[in-house]
Amino acid sequence: MDSGMVPDARMAVKRSADIFGKCFKFHKAKMLMSQGLYPYFRTIESAQDPEIVMNGRRMIMIGSNNYLGLTNHPKVKEAAIEAIKKYGTGCAGSRFLNGTLDIHVALEEKLARFMRKDAALVFSTGFQVNLGVISALVGKDDVVVIDKMDHASIIDGCRLSFGEIRKYRHNDMGDLERVLKENEDRDKLIVVDGVFSMEGDIVPLPDVLRLSRRYSGRLMVDDAHGIGVLGKTGRGTAEHFGLEADVDLIMGTYSKSLASIGGFIAGSEDVIHYIKHSARSLIFSASPPPASVASVSAAIDIIENEPERREQLWKNTRKMLNGFRSLGFKTGASETPIIPVIVGDDEKAFTMAMMLQKEGVFVNVAVTPAVPTGMALIRTSYMATHTDEHLDIVLSAFEKIGKRLGLIA
Ligand code: PMP
Repeated sequence: MDSGMVPDARMAVKRSADIFGKCFKFHKAKMLMSQGLYPYFRTIESAQDPEIVMNGRRMIMIGSNNYLGLTNHPKVKEAAIEAIKKYGTGCAGSRFLNGTLDIHVALEEKLARFMRKDAALVFSTGFQVNLGVISALVGKDDVVVIDKMDHASIIDGCRLSFGEIRKYRHNDMGDLERVLKENEDRDKLIVVDGVFSMEGDIVPLPDVLRLSRRYSGRLMVDDAHGIGVLGKTGRGTAEHFGLEADVDLIMGTYSKSLASIGGFIAGSEDVIHYIKHSARSLIFSASPPPASVASVSAAIDIIENEPERREQLWKNTRKMLNGFRSLGFKTGASETPIIPVIVGDDEKAFTMAMMLQKEGVFVNVAVTPAVPTGMALIRTSYMATHTDEHLDIVLSAFEKIGKRLGLIA
């Protein structure tokens, strides 16, 4: 038989393209780099302070989540050093097996007390808390209801769950009620950010709670940006509204006010016990290292003992909110130390960030899909340790560049 005439069986199978094809066609970042507009993965050569060193040059940092300025605090650093001396640098295993130290347990007790909940569970990152908790709680026939602007880790936690994901318009209580009504007969978890990480606005927690109760849902608040910042004693969004006893679960991260890396979930004994034995990102991932655990513990002490830091943070926040608004910038609904300056299109935002960098100001940029199209913004955020002089320099730089870009008159 003339083999040349018979189609090769292997040829009959449609040849797939290279899985790496998308990588070879990914030009967006390189284009920004070639235009000198790339604002990501910038290398910092100093601590995360109000002033940083980048490319050998001092700059004012207004792109950090180090709200209370504790990442370089002597007591926090000392606690980390002491923990390394005693326990070494890592735990070489998960909390579930060999990776639980006495300081993990002590931190859980401290966090539970601090958050005024029965129990808490520490994880290695905040991202892992949301992945693990949401996927553990939301089963096949359940619904998870989220705000459209919730953090990516919440969305990914929902995707990992076997339940149905329903979103409602940002902070729109009518829309939340519509979604809850449509799912009246199902078991529901509502997950909201306490402070939204790009917009800097606060969730209307009393309304969310009222609706959650009316439709028999359970409520989880991701308070990554609320803890240390909001509330009379820095306990976050629930304390701000006087609803600590009412929110079912509060999630926190150590990567903002708590000056380290890791995260936790706090709630009732039974629910935390269940999560402890079901959250895969806890069970199958190594526990937070001793230095992180000790830093968080020291940071909580400082939050409790030095309320003046939070007061200074709010003083700085008010100065910047007023400053930007009186210059004519649009700052959306922000009412926290996260202050977005809304620029419009993505390219303008990249340009503005680089112009600010030239002026010696480090900012972050948020473009689509992190924000709605046409709502690209410069995300600024403040620390208790910024001085008036830092903030005046920042406002002058924004004024100069805002005028040049036609954002303000
Ligand atoms: N939730 C929110 C609202 C966040 O902003 C972040 C961090 N950017 C996370 C969760 C994840 O926390 P971590 O950095 O500890 O992974």
